[in-house]
Amino acid sequence: MSEWKVLLTDGLEENGQAILRQFATVDNHSGISAEELLEVVGNYDAMIVRGRTKVTPAVFEAGKNLKVVGRAGVGVDNIDLNAAKAKGVTVVNSPTATTIAVAELTMGLMLAVLREIPRADAGMKAGKWLKKEMEGGELWRKTLGIIGFGRIGSAVAQRASAFEMNVIAYDPLRTREEIEQRCGCSSTLDDLLEQSDIISIHTPLNDTTRNLINEDAFAKMKDGVYLICAARGGVVNEEALLAALESGKVAGAGLDVFAVEPPGVTPLVSHPRVVCTPHIGAQTVEAQVRAAEDIATEVLAALKGEPLRWKVA
Ligand code: NAD
Repeated sequence: MSEWKVLLTDGLEENGQAILRQFATVDNHSGISAEELLEVVGNYDAMIVRGRTKVTPAVFEAGKNLKVVGRAGVGVDNIDLNAAKAKGVTVVNSPTATTIAVAELTMGLMLAVLREIPRADAGMKAGKWLKKEMEGGELWRKTLGIIGFGRIGSAVAQRASAFEMNVIAYDPLRTREEIEQRCGCSSTLDDLLEQSDIISIHTPLNDTTRNLINEDAFAKMKDGVYLICAARGGVVNEEALLAALESGKVAGAGLDVFAVEPPGVTPLVSHPRVVCTPHIGAQTVEAQVRAAEDIATEVLAALKGEPLRWKVA
């Protein structure tokens, strides 16, 4: 007989569900509403979420039997960690599974923005041959400023090095040696803002990074800089970005994440020099399979009281 009950609120690849079913009953309530979640969560020992489900203090309050919350992926800003700690609930994530997927999308956004690939494609589909009005830029020998030099930031640096970019990085929590070992050159934030041709954000969203890229930060950047963000909405101040696009300070932006998701057709989303994707950084077959295996294994380890690799709270 199954020992534990596990609730999935945002789906999970079959390989992860199979791992869980060896020891637990698994209920898949993908897309469950906040109200329904409060009604049912009391029945479960564990729940596994992605970014959609908000695990609020009310969820921890209602989750009388809850012992562990697993996040399939990295970002845990949708989980109230203080409430988890207060209720003695363990929070785990699967931080390494999606690194390559996000790093590859970041390179894709860079190329899409600098070469205007979406506009070229839209032109072709509308029967237009835009060759004469299209003159993009190259990545070669451009200075790429990476803000947040953890797993994804350093994976982007490795890939940018293959494009022969000059990579500088700002991360107050990493040593100069760590940054250099991972294909970067350590920089202050101000120097990075002033020197970069392209800036890519790879920090979590927290009190130190919310609105980090604001009006003051844009003022320090080179004219004609490009900005890429596949980290979290809220790190880049969207009004300031729109103003910087309109003034020409920012030549183009590639955005996978937004302060409000989905954002709708805002002036930023519909701006001709912005390439947008709907928070698909981690959405590869390979990453989702890895994330499912990692989080299922980690949640079971937490339930069994075994040592944990990725305990967040
Ligand atoms: P990580 O923890 O390995 O790296 C984050 C880095 O940011 C750390 O090195 C940390 O020191 C640094 N940092 C923290 N505060 C900072 C600050 N104020 N200024 C500069 N650097 C700071 O995490 P990761 O696996 O590289 O993921 C990074 C972020 O990418 C996640 O937190 C998440 O928000 C985002 N992400 C997005 C997607 C997507 O679908 N677009 C998918 C996965 C992760």
